[in-house]
Amino acid sequence: MAKKKVATRLEREHLSKVASLGCLVCQRPANVHHIRPIGLGIGMRSGHYQTIPLCREHHQGQFSIHNCKQEFEAMYGTEHEMLQRTLNEIKNLNEVNDFFNFNKGENNG
Ligand SMILES: [Zn+2]
Ligand SMILES: [Zn+2]
Repeated sequence: MAKKKVATRLEREHLSKVASLGCLVCQRPANVHHIRPIGLGIGMRSGHYQTIPLCREHHQGQFSIHNCKQEFEAMYGTEHEMLQRTLNEIKNLNEVNDFFNFNKGENNG
C-alpha cells in the first residue's frame, strides 16, 4: 500500500551533499539518516530534505540515534536541531558554489 518514494535528481544531489558533510558528531564518512517529522506517525518517512549525516556508528551503532535516541539527543541535540545545522552547512556550501560559478563567469573572455 505504501508507495516507495523515489528521489528526484535534485533530491539525490541534496542527499549526496548531506552525506558529503560527514558525520555531525565525529566528521567521519557518513550516510544519511531520515529524521521523523514532528506530528506524523512513528515509522513514517519524512522527505529527502529532512536528512542528517551520521556515520555508521552514530547512525546505527551501540550508541546511536537509532539505538539510544534519548541519550543521543541529550548529548548532541535533537534531530531537528541537527537538521537545522545540516541545512545551514548546505546553505554555506551552495553559497561557496555560487561564488565559484560567479568567478568562472567573470573569467570567461
Ligand atoms: Zn560519527
Ligand atoms: Zn536512520
